[in-house]
Amino acid sequence: MFWDHAIETLDRASLRQLQLKRLQATVRRVARKVSFYREQFSQARLRPSHIGALADVRRLPFTTSADLRANYPSGLLAVGLDDTLRLHTSSGTTGKPKALFFSRQDVANAAELCARCLVMTGVTRGDVFQNMMTYGLFTGALVMHYGAEKVGCLVIPAGPGNSEKQLLLMLDFRSTAVHVTPSYALYFAGFLESKGIDPRRDLALRRAFVGAEPYTEDTRRKIEQALGVDVFNSYGLSEMNGPGVAFECEHKHGMHLWEDHYLLEIVDPQTGEPLPEGEYGELVLTTLCREAMPLLRYRTRDITAVVPEPCPCGRTHRRLQRIRGRSDDMLIVRGVNIYPQQIEQVLMSLPQVGRNYLIVLDGLDEMTVKVELAQTSFDGQVEHLVHLENEIVSRLRAEILTRPKVELVPPGSLPVSEGKARRVIDNRKL
Ligand code: AMP
Ligand code: ZN
Repeated sequence: MFWDHAIETLDRASLRQLQLKRLQATVRRVARKVSFYREQFSQARLRPSHIGALADVRRLPFTTSADLRANYPSGLLAVGLDDTLRLHTSSGTTGKPKALFFSRQDVANAAELCARCLVMTGVTRGDVFQNMMTYGLFTGALVMHYGAEKVGCLVIPAGPGNSEKQLLLMLDFRSTAVHVTPSYALYFAGFLESKGIDPRRDLALRRAFVGAEPYTEDTRRKIEQALGVDVFNSYGLSEMNGPGVAFECEHKHGMHLWEDHYLLEIVDPQTGEPLPEGEYGELVLTTLCREAMPLLRYRTRDITAVVPEPCPCGRTHRRLQRIRGRSDDMLIVRGVNIYPQQIEQVLMSLPQVGRNYLIVLDGLDEMTVKVELAQTSFDGQVEHLVHLENEIVSRLRAEILTRPKVELVPPGSLPVSEGKARRVIDNRKL
C-alpha cells in the first residue's frame, strides 16, 4: 500500500534531479539566513553556485552535534522566531541539549513522512494506534502521533510505562498497532506473560513499530513471538524531525529512507571520506525540505550501510540496513573495540536468555554482563545454570575477543527505563 505512490516510486533519475534542486535551494537559503553556515562557506571559499551536481555535496562542511550545542539555543535558525511552531530537544546526552525548531511546514512534512511509513506497512484509517513512546521534548511520540492522525487512525497517546494501563487500553479499545522501544516491548511482553494474557487470543495487536534504539534481528523475532505482531523497524533522529526518516516496508529487509527529504551519504567515521555503496560506515544526512532549521551533512554517528539492490515493493528510495550502533557507543575494554549490539546479538540468539541485559564496567577493565533468564529456563538444577553461564561466556568471548564475567539473574529483575534503554554502566576509573 502506498500513501503517495508517485513520489515513493519516482524513477531514480527524477528523484536525483529533485534532490539536486532542493539541495541547491537549501544551500542558497542557509548562505543567506544562517551566519554559522555563511562563515563556514567563506572559510572554505565556497559559493552556493559551486553546487552544480549532487556529488558536490562533498564540498559542503559537515555539521556535528557539537555545532548544534555551540549554537544553542537558536543560532541555527533559518527563519524568524515568529515562524517557528514547535520546539523539541534531543535526548540522552549530558550538558546542554540540542534545540530543534519546526516551522508549520516542517510539522506538516514530518507528519506526511510518518504517514508514508505507516501506510507502507499496511496501516489504514481503521487502525487503533497505541503510542507507547515518551511524549514531551522527545520527538518520538508527538511526530509519529501526527502521522498516525494524518492516516486517520484512532490514536491513543498512552506514553510509555504503566503496563496495567497499557493493557487496559489495549483490551478496551482493541489497539491494532503499537509504537514502542524494543526494550519496553520486551518488558511489556514479560508483563503480559505474568498476567496470563495470550496476545494472539486476547488482544487485537497486528503490528509494532519499533525503534529509537538499536536492536537485533533476534530481538525482533522475540518481540514478534511474544506479542503476536509483525515488527517493523523505525529509524529517526530529532535532528531530522524525529521518526519517519527511514522505515521498513512489508519485506522487512532494510528501511526505505525518504530521499526526497534527506540526502544520504555513508562515510568512514574516522576520515569522513565517502564509502562505496553497500559498505558500513557513518550515516550523514542533509535536509532537503527543512524550513526552520536546515542542516548540511549532519554526522548522525549511526553506523549502517545502504542495501544495494532495489526493493521488490517498487519503492525507489534506497534502504538502510539495521543500525549497528552509534560510533560513540563503542566501548574500549582491554584495548578491544566492542559495540553493545555484538553482545545483544549473542545473548538474544540463545533461547534460555530472557528479555533484558546490562553491561557493567568496573575497576580497571572488568566487564560483567548481567543476563536475565527466560521465564521457563530454570529447572531448579544449579549445574544447568553453571552450564548456561559457561556457554554464554564462551560465545561472548568468541564474538568480542575478551572474556567477560556473566551473571544470570531472574526474569524481570534488571531495571527498565521508560525512555531509551541504558545498556551500559561504566564505573571504570581509567
Ligand atoms: P533522538 O534524537 O533522541 O530521537 O535519538 C536518535 C537516535 O536514536 C538515532 O541517532 C539512533 O542512534 C537511535 N535510533 C533511532 N531509531 C533507531 C533504530 N530503529 N535503530 C537503531 N537506532 C535507532
Ligand atoms: Zn520496499
